Amino acid sequence: MALQSQKQELLELVHETQKHLKYLQELGVEGIQKLDDNIIPVGKWKQSSNSARSLPTGNQTLGLRKASGSGRPTKEESINEVSTSLFGDLGPRPARLAPSTETFEEIWLEVGDCTRCPLHQRRTNVVHTEGNRKARLMFVGEAPGADEDAQARPFVGRAGQLLTKIIEAIGLKREEVLIGNVNRCRPPDNRPPTLEEASMCKPFLLREIAIVQPEVIVVMGNTAMRNLLDTKEGITKLRGQFQDYKGIKVMPTFHPAYLLRDPSKKRETWEDLKKVREYLDRLENQQA
Ligand code: URA
Repeated sequence: MALQSQKQELLELVHETQKHLKYLQELGVEGIQKLDDNIIPVGKWKQSSNSARSLPTGNQTLGLRKASGSGRPTKEESINEVSTSLFGDLGPRPARLAPSTETFEEIWLEVGDCTRCPLHQRRTNVVHTEGNRKARLMFVGEAPGADEDAQARPFVGRAGQLLTKIIEAIGLKREEVLIGNVNRCRPPDNRPPTLEEASMCKPFLLREIAIVQPEVIVVMGNTAMRNLLDTKEGITKLRGQFQDYKGIKVMPTFHPAYLLRDPSKKRETWEDLKKVREYLDRLENQQA
């Protein structure tokens, strides 16, 4: 493996570890066990090795593609974001999602007749991500419900019909966007997937995101938002404010099933989706 790509991989690993430890800390985990049995407080784990500090600095190239007018931060902008909380002045934070040469079919083959988590026991079908694989916009929900489980398609029940209307309200067709879920199997009684269940399934979604590289991902509801952003915050707090997933804009908003229960929240969802539409339009104008 080329040195540059090894460095890139190491930086990504550091960043992912850093995010995961922050997540654990937010969950109330106070320490992690090292192999030598010492407990390290998660908020205090600092990387002090000099060799780690000799990794590329903001002025060096990591072999990433330039944003080429996509509106995402350029490599130089991204690279200047420095990790501070866990690894001190280790160096640049790899903010961009590495391109993938996988196909959806390869991923789905790997998912197979999945038994990785207990949700497989009561499912009828595995529900894969659906839609345009060149989409600029992706929607991510929680997990299939009864209709989705029966039809092996995401968001086809009542919440799905509302989602289709939301998509059309911002001038797009359902077929133009990509629609997926954190979990591919229906949880019993439509309960949210547990952290462990989500962690088994989420990597497949992330690999699909790496293939498509959408410009915006709308995360609908707490499960989608928390899992994509590794946060413990609630949707009410973050909705309507663009977040970041490795250089991709992420817009948290309410889940359509919640809107069915409380239609008064539709107005806020509309405000959130208008921001997405405006952002996509701005990007398109910049590229023209
Ligand atoms: N709710 C979800 O989160 N996903 C679906 O596919 C359907 C309902």
